Amino acid sequence: MRTFPITGRIKRFASVFRDNGYSLFVVGGAVRDFLLGLGNSDLDFTTDARPEEVIALFRTVIPTGIAHGTVTVIFEGEHYEVTTFRSEGEYKDGRRPSSVTFIPSLEEDLKRRDFTINAFAASAITGKIVDNHNGEQDLKDGIIRAIGNPYERFDEDALRIMRAARISGKLNFTIEERTFNAMGTLKENLRLVSVERLHDELVHLVKSAYPKKGFEYLHASGALAVILPELAQGDGVLQKGFHHEDVLQHSLTTCQKAADIGSSVHVRLAALFHDIGKTATRKPDGDRFSFHNHEIVGEALTKTILRRLKASNEEIDTVSHLVRHHMFTYTPEMTDSAVRRFIVRVGIEHIEDLFKLRIADQMAISGRADTDLLDEFSKRINGIISSDDALSIKDLAIGGNDLLALGIPKGKRIGQTLQYLLETVLDDPAQNTKEQLFRIALAYQELCGFTSD
Ligand code: ATP
Ligand code: MG
Repeated sequence: MRTFPITGRIKRFASVFRDNGYSLFVVGGAVRDFLLGLGNSDLDFTTDARPEEVIALFRTVIPTGIAHGTVTVIFEGEHYEVTTFRSEGEYKDGRRPSSVTFIPSLEEDLKRRDFTINAFAASAITGKIVDNHNGEQDLKDGIIRAIGNPYERFDEDALRIMRAARISGKLNFTIEERTFNAMGTLKENLRLVSVERLHDELVHLVKSAYPKKGFEYLHASGALAVILPELAQGDGVLQKGFHHEDVLQHSLTTCQKAADIGSSVHVRLAALFHDIGKTATRKPDGDRFSFHNHEIVGEALTKTILRRLKASNEEIDTVSHLVRHHMFTYTPEMTDSAVRRFIVRVGIEHIEDLFKLRIADQMAISGRADTDLLDEFSKRINGIISSDDALSIKDLAIGGNDLLALGIPKGKRIGQTLQYLLETVLDDPAQNTKEQLFRIALAYQELCGFTSD
């Protein structure tokens, strides 16, 4: 077997362990990815030194996960995660080991890992690779196989069910049959796993190169219905018309296309959820179906899902916003005023993401995207953004203080008037002068029956 490349700095780091009578290994994904010829900047280390012993060896050590035996050492300016060899105690609830036992044996530590291809260790001094579970053969064959008995592995920690899917998505690997069957048998245990851990793995899968593959494993095993029932319900929901796939397949294909075009995680999640409102809104419509307001139902469902998974507010807001607006249309006849309203509705900062979502959606439907039309729309949007046309209240030629000076009383009415002025200016930017806006503001007071008391 090849030797893992040990840089000078890692060797100096490992020497500190060796000189104090301890061993240090690079373990897990980094060794796997090296053997596959992939880059992996994220190094995980494992050692026989106990956490308090590691802390004693270095000046700066952060106790990042000390309950599980993990500390982060800052060495020559780099952050290194070091975990003490451990055999996990009994898993009583399929969530987390009920106790962690530190052990002096690398062999035992490697046995408690999830998959054969994740159980390599490389000496951090020599780079010599240890492979006790025939991981190299599985790597060659492109196979994800649980170490030992897969039923026991998934029963100990059901998150491994998602990890199997996400690694298949990362590497385009096949999940070995018994391992796959165990996923199906133990899928209900995913309900015991903390939503933060589920969310983390979901994001890893969505970020991977082959998310569709991972999601298909989750669906085929029944695990998708446990973690994302709203998505799994799209299975068999036919669309007819120009869609050749059911709602679930289309969602997975769109997520895959979003990955293929190098989209952000937010766009990939929006791609996964963009049609999630279709199942609830489908109505027969001649020989087709209609899905009126599916983007509005979809926005609400997306919020429900991401809140349940305790995603950040930024993720919840951005992804649900993209879902809400994914049905936009553009034709060359669209007026400048309509383009300005589109920009205001969607928000300048979301337009690029929304276009990526559209490209992924079109590619999923027909294999190609109508980029000419989108390019034209993009040009018009950029033209408006680079002109000085007002797109928000702060761009108006007058502000709240000017309205107060006009005699409009403090309070709600100022805001309403400014909003009205913005609407006017979106229709006709030429109105954005002090004189015109004063005139319009006063006329608006009369229109609303406001008196100047
Ligand atoms: P990535 O390249 O995405 O970081 P990774 O394999 O390094 O992939 P990590 O989540 O960083 O994944 O985990 C590091 C290692 O720890 C894994 O390779 C595996 O050996 C082990 N591991 C992580 N999570 C589990 C788990 N839930 N059960 C058993 N072993 C695990
Ligand atoms: Mg890692």
